[in-house]
Amino acid sequence: MKRLFVVGSINMDLVGLAPRFVAPGETLLGSMFAEFPGGKGANQAVALARLGAHPVLVGALGDDDFGKTYRRVMDKEGVDHRFVETITGIRTGVAMIEVAASGENRILVLPGANSQISPQQAGPVLAEVRPGDIVLFQLEIPLETVLLLLKRFREKGAVTILDPAPAFVLPRRMLELVDFLTPNETESRILAGLPPKADGDEFSLAPAQALLNLGVGKVIQKAGSRGAWLVENTQGTHVPAFAVAAVDTTAAGDSFNAGFAFALAHDKPVVDAIRWANAVAALSTTQPGAQTAMPRLPEVEALLLSKN
Ligand code: ADP
Repeated sequence: MKRLFVVGSINMDLVGLAPRFVAPGETLLGSMFAEFPGGKGANQAVALARLGAHPVLVGALGDDDFGKTYRRVMDKEGVDHRFVETITGIRTGVAMIEVAASGENRILVLPGANSQISPQQAGPVLAEVRPGDIVLFQLEIPLETVLLLLKRFREKGAVTILDPAPAFVLPRRMLELVDFLTPNETESRILAGLPPKADGDEFSLAPAQALLNLGVGKVIQKAGSRGAWLVENTQGTHVPAFAVAAVDTTAAGDSFNAGFAFALAHDKPVVDAIRWANAVAALSTTQPGAQTAMPRLPEVEALLLSKN
């Protein structure tokens, strides 16, 4: 079987509930604290593992308690973490999430070990990559590492998927190494160097088409409750979302990429793989949280049998 690799960030999400946002210089009593495993790389790996894929994660942890906790999480979930390095003298990445009673949040990300992932450190994994394997990247680790590893995985014959989040303008030589780019609407516009969507602007595939002209293989344009579009030429193929009662869309994008990659690894045609992606992502929105909400294979297969 084709193997799945994920190169990316690992964060511990520290969530605090506050009656309202804390003002500068103020100390406020909140009502709840919780710690959840997160980070886009780890999220995608866990979503793949829940589907039964035994993914290999490449990343870094700090030599602290969060790092130890995260190893246990990955063992429990079935993520292969042999290529996740523990870096001495540095902290595991954290995201400090303040949630106000209004439901709004503010997030401070401290990348810690994620900012130290070098191409050299990630190099040994390449010995395990075979032609046709699939690798998922995002943009929460150093850009140079993503760029060089995209190149090396490509040289090994792997299919490359890049989730351009958080988005910024990327060098053309990097876009040319991407087989499947999976932006949401906001990200497409940023990557294509276009202004943000104004109120009343219609959904448009123009930003995705601009990205094709910059060298991307195919763009899979994520579109929230409308599902996604496959954009590979001047036409777009719409793959509708599954109708579910969405309660929390955190990590819907990560679940989408995992579902897509899993289906590709099982030799599904691209449009079918997008349908899989929509199913995994839709189910992830029906529960609160990121990794806690990610579905297992039987649930996904049941939803795929329903009409959407
Ligand atoms: P991101 O989470 O990366 O910002 P989107 O918001 O476009 O991206 O969501 C990713 C995917 O999650 C969508 O393409 C779709 O498959 C699924 N999704 C998101 N919101 C819903 C929803 N309300 N109902 C069903 N599926 C959804």
